[in-house]
Amino acid sequence: MQSTTRVARRSGGLGDRSGSWPLWPRWLLWASLGVFALGLLLPASPAGSPVPGWLAIIRDWVPVLVCWLAASRVGFRRVQVTLAAAALTAFALGNSSYSAATSSGMDSQFPSTAVVGYLAFYVLMLAALAALVLRQLGGRPSSVLVDSAVGSLGAAAVLAVLLSPILDSAARGAPSAAAVVGVAYPLLAMALVAAVVGIAVAPGLQLGHGWLLLLCGLLVFTAADVAFVLMELGGETALGAALGGGRALGLVLVATWVDGSVRSAGTVSRRVTGAWTLMAPAFATVAALGVLVVGTQVPVSATAIALAGVTLVVAAVRTHLAFHELVKMGDLRRQALTDDLTGLPNRRALYADVPERLAARRPAALLLLDLDRFKEVNDSLGHDVGDRLLIQVGERLSAQLRTGDLLARLGGDEFAVFLDNARRDQAVAVAAKLRAALAESFTLEGIALQADVSIGIALSPDQGDDLKVLLRKADMAMYKAKAARSGHHVYVSVDNSHGDERLRTLQELRVALRDNHLVLHYQPKIDLTSGAVHGVEALVRWRHPVRGLLYPEAFLVLVEEAGLMHWMTEVVLEKALDQAAVWRAAGQPLTVAVNLSASSLVDADLPQRIIAMVAARGLPTSALMLEITEEFLMADRERARAILTELSAGGIRLAVDDFGTGYSSLAYLRDLPIDELKLDRSFVIPMAGDRRAAALVASTIHLAHSLGLRMVAEGVEDATAYDALVSHGCDHAQGFFLSKALPVEILDDWLEDRRLQALDTPNSAASPAQFGIPGPSARATIEAQTRATV
Ligand code: C2E
Ligand code: CA
Ligand code: CA
Repeated sequence: MQSTTRVARRSGGLGDRSGSWPLWPRWLLWASLGVFALGLLLPASPAGSPVPGWLAIIRDWVPVLVCWLAASRVGFRRVQVTLAAAALTAFALGNSSYSAATSSGMDSQFPSTAVVGYLAFYVLMLAALAALVLRQLGGRPSSVLVDSAVGSLGAAAVLAVLLSPILDSAARGAPSAAAVVGVAYPLLAMALVAAVVGIAVAPGLQLGHGWLLLLCGLLVFTAADVAFVLMELGGETALGAALGGGRALGLVLVATWVDGSVRSAGTVSRRVTGAWTLMAPAFATVAALGVLVVGTQVPVSATAIALAGVTLVVAAVRTHLAFHELVKMGDLRRQALTDDLTGLPNRRALYADVPERLAARRPAALLLLDLDRFKEVNDSLGHDVGDRLLIQVGERLSAQLRTGDLLARLGGDEFAVFLDNARRDQAVAVAAKLRAALAESFTLEGIALQADVSIGIALSPDQGDDLKVLLRKADMAMYKAKAARSGHHVYVSVDNSHGDERLRTLQELRVALRDNHLVLHYQPKIDLTSGAVHGVEALVRWRHPVRGLLYPEAFLVLVEEAGLMHWMTEVVLEKALDQAAVWRAAGQPLTVAVNLSASSLVDADLPQRIIAMVAARGLPTSALMLEITEEFLMADRERARAILTELSAGGIRLAVDDFGTGYSSLAYLRDLPIDELKLDRSFVIPMAGDRRAAALVASTIHLAHSLGLRMVAEGVEDATAYDALVSHGCDHAQGFFLSKALPVEILDDWLEDRRLQALDTPNSAASPAQFGIPGPSARATIEAQTRATV
């Protein structure tokens, strides 16, 4: 249950004077009580009064004085203080008149005018309590009033049993003045005590500083006073002195409360706990039932029975109210801890639950899951599809967990799993199980979507027993898993060092995209039969303000992870097509190849946008070629086919990049509108020293041709490979042996040199040396030039 402690500060019109309010009134009160106690030890006065007159005056009037001082202290602005002062005054007046009467020998006059003062005390004190409660009630729920009422009624029912003989006899007697007093007195006293109990049990009330003093004071006073008056009525005087002492103590306590209540600048609330909510009705119900049970055994007054009945009814109402409040609280609590979309526990729930479990210091694991490229699903297929994907992901994940494991959605595409009682091996096994559960594609709106996930794992207590720390470590491990595409990764301390750097790079990357810091270098593709250059591949670089020129391997993973690939592809396409238009205008119609990442697959509008971009520059569609990886083809075959068909229908040529590294079968490729295969450099580079590698390349070229596809060899680094490729009938070649990727100006020079040399040696088609392909030293120069220009 939640507990709240509210500290309400009220100036109460005290201003800054409250701090300097002297302590002497308080000392005076307690001194008067001491004097009174000592006075009681003196022999009784001859007049038969239980308390000597002068002592009674000290006892009655010192509290009055203190109360009025306090009331004036706050300019009589606190009604309850003024009423309490008036109540004590009424009592003092009544008592003084009684003392005067007894000392003058008119003792048989009881009930006398003194009784009016006594009764007035109760009426005024009840009014003071009412003012106190009403002042507190502003803005509080009605249940507080009901609590108070039910407490009062329960107490009244019990008191009515105790007072039964008096109530009954008074009711039966003749309606004399004495009988009226005999009934009114215990009833008023009962009402006061009941009110005190009601206030004490109402959890929502703030009664100001020292409220217990008031409650005790009133109880003590009332008990002694009622006993005293009843004794007087019955002509008894035996316990007079002791009861006088009780009245004195009660008055001093009440006056101390009054004094204290104007002394403290603010009111301090009681602790209200959920358990308290049902306390008052529970106690009242027990009390009322007790009264009814007693009523079956001994005769009790009808008033007591009636009060018990009403108490039960009101207590039932209150319980009903409390129940509703609790249900509402429970609802709110549940809502606060549940993720709206998936119905799974949310981050708050994780924080509510896990710290306690970590405190046990049993081996436990925290897994942080982050879907790969979810943002692109959202961006291209819409939030609705994204949401439904998340729901399904949540369902698949929870199906894998045991009871006792906690799965929470932290927000976005981030989930957390807390495994109690799990060591490293179990955690890794669960991670593998979760990944396997998501590996199968999801079908949403007829589209098969892949939701790969990267999982970071942190272990407790080894790597911390604080949830925040574990979350941070799991997060770092998760990024590690993402970057390495390893699926999952268990945190090790070195993972820590890269977190900040990663964040900074991400920020810089956004700036780079916005402020045009990305540049393209172009690597020529050479036609191996004619030696001509018909096309180039555009390769992106980042001109970093501090770190210099960065190559794709330094930032592409981050671009993917941050969901910026969309944007980057757009930027690269714009630049590449602009450049293609420039070349075309200069009479050099080169085809520019642009790389598409696998995540482009989720972008259904991409084909139309690309076609429009080409058209907008007045370029023929043959000016652009798109290089896609096998990963792109295999992620979702149907979507890949749809996108490629649309592009191809628009006239754009397509190449399969890094061919041979993936799992696409040639049979599958045959059915796609593909123009070119780019044999991965891992096959080409070993060709020079490895005959088997060369034979493999040869048969692959052959196969491609049999399917009507052009073959391009990547990574041609030396003359041996070059010659072998020529002899095996490879169509195109690309590689450092021919040229690195170059900035436009250098490439233009390189192309011009080539053209001139081709003119010089018109009949030497196949040998690269005859084309004047730059040797190693010349390449070093190009490299130096390249660095200088970027
Ligand atoms: P890729 O598409 O396979 O591009 C060819 C990579 O091989 C380029 O590296 C190129 O510089 C390098 N290369 C060229 N000739 C040789 C050679 O003879 N030997 C060796 N060892 N390597 C050679 P780069 O520019 O670092 O690009 C790396 C990868 O980054 C590219 O591989 C491509 O997958 C990706 N990439 C580059 N630009 C873009 C882009 O604009 N968009 C996307 N989505 N990916 C890009
Ligand atoms: Ca490529
Ligand atoms: Ca490649």
